[in-house]
Amino acid sequence: MAKSLSADDYRQMAAELTPRTQAFIGGQFVDAASGKTFATVNPATGTVIAEIAECDAEDVNRAVALARAAFDDGRWSHQSPRNRKRVLLKLAELMRRDAQHLALLETLDMGKPIAEALAVDVGSSANCVQWYAEAVDKVYDEVSPSGPHALGLITRDPIGVVACVVPWNFPLLMASWKIAPALAAGNSVILKPAEQSPLTALKLAELCAEAGLPEGVFQVLPGFGPTAGKALGLHMDVDCLAFTGSTEVGKLFMQYGGQSNLKRVWLECGGKSPNVVLSDVADLDKAAFHAALGIFYNQGEVCTAASRLIVEDSVHDALLEKVIALGQAMQPGDPLDPATKMGAIVDQRQMQRVLGYIDQGVREGGVLALGGRQARVTSGGYFIEPTIFSGISNDMTIAREEIFGPVLSVIRVKDADEAIRVANTCDYGLAACLWTRDVTKAHTLSRKLRAGSVWVNCWDGGDMTMPFGGFKQSGNGRDKSLHALDKYTELKATWIDLT
Ligand code: NAD
Repeated sequence: MAKSLSADDYRQMAAELTPRTQAFIGGQFVDAASGKTFATVNPATGTVIAEIAECDAEDVNRAVALARAAFDDGRWSHQSPRNRKRVLLKLAELMRRDAQHLALLETLDMGKPIAEALAVDVGSSANCVQWYAEAVDKVYDEVSPSGPHALGLITRDPIGVVACVVPWNFPLLMASWKIAPALAAGNSVILKPAEQSPLTALKLAELCAEAGLPEGVFQVLPGFGPTAGKALGLHMDVDCLAFTGSTEVGKLFMQYGGQSNLKRVWLECGGKSPNVVLSDVADLDKAAFHAALGIFYNQGEVCTAASRLIVEDSVHDALLEKVIALGQAMQPGDPLDPATKMGAIVDQRQMQRVLGYIDQGVREGGVLALGGRQARVTSGGYFIEPTIFSGISNDMTIAREEIFGPVLSVIRVKDADEAIRVANTCDYGLAACLWTRDVTKAHTLSRKLRAGSVWVNCWDGGDMTMPFGGFKQSGNGRDKSLHALDKYTELKATWIDLT
């Protein structure tokens, strides 16, 4: 195991870092066809880290053609699952070997605390790659129960060319949740990272090549959404588009699919998750800890952020007091310091957006119980204090719209029925938490919650065995678990007449 590093070690590593900056197309690191580049910025300091190749439609055309050729000649798609497993296990091993480097790139690029980048982002990404590698030679197809006169084979074929378009909040992890099952299933994969956070995707390309993925099977196209992302969405030879990001852009991808070749479009979109604490909660301290973690972890830039704390009257005041105390102790710090619990907001635009929502909350009559201001202003970076509003009603803007920052809305309710009604009154349905000691209530109320993930007596429960995705406008796809393989395969029925 690598030795743990100090803040000074990471600063030294950062000073010496030369990240990959070119696109990865056809097994080579290359400039964008246009020669254009864009700056990627460290949000903790506001300084430019590197100039990155800015891919657009021309690069997309080239990468798709190479991906198609690789798929058709079978260099990966026709390999046995056991061989694909071997290469992907090697990839997981290389990700662990370079974990500190990957974590550093993630922290510098999007501002998250280095300790979390290492343990969660890189650790979970490597686990994800390993999990699909190990799974893929243990998944069987089916034979239909059609009797002696026919043989019905129900098989899963790889879908072809898969494009993955991902956000900046967990750049490597969101990419891994898509590319690992897509590659394991035998597809050719093109990854477009968010323009705010391209660095770990480019490092991943290097590791994929080292692990032995053949040329053209995995390619990385950094660039902007309305150019590179849109070109992938509209491409007539991309068979499947797996997207994680905002609901607004998810809707565009559905349109792109309809305007082009009816590619399979899988969406993992935004959320406004309710965290329901009932009066019979078994452990108020644990509930408070998870409530604070649920909104301040990753600076609140989490699709499943528990941004609406819905609390039954009798425990409301005691819980609020505890969450405020925990929030106060989570002030933002230097993301390169392993002791830091909250880092920088991804960029200035997102910081202004979050501060705008805080102003809106005040204007609509919310009570600002903690924070509300920019922090660490002299750093040149983009930090926001942990912020808590009490006295919120579910129809206020900050209770309805996804803020994607460290801003909690606390909503008081009179009983469990009102709590579930408020929880479900929302355009999104990604996740929901429920706190109760009563096992019957836990079962009956979790069935009523309209969300893809329901977490009872915790926030963010689950592991690779559990599917993850949304109801309603949180999307239609499911990452993680064996169910994710369904997204990257076509179901084929082969009927052999035996008469
Ligand atoms: P975003 O929708 O702005 O961008 C996501 C990706 O789409 C980026 O790669 C971007 O370049 C691309 N894109 C943007 N505009 C595009 C366009 N017009 N055409 C094609 N591509 C385009 O989202 P973001 O700001 O990067 O990320 C935050 C959002 O992601 C939040 O809404 C969050 O809830 C969501 N998210 C969801 C999940 C999940 O699993 N459900 C996980 C993480 C984040």
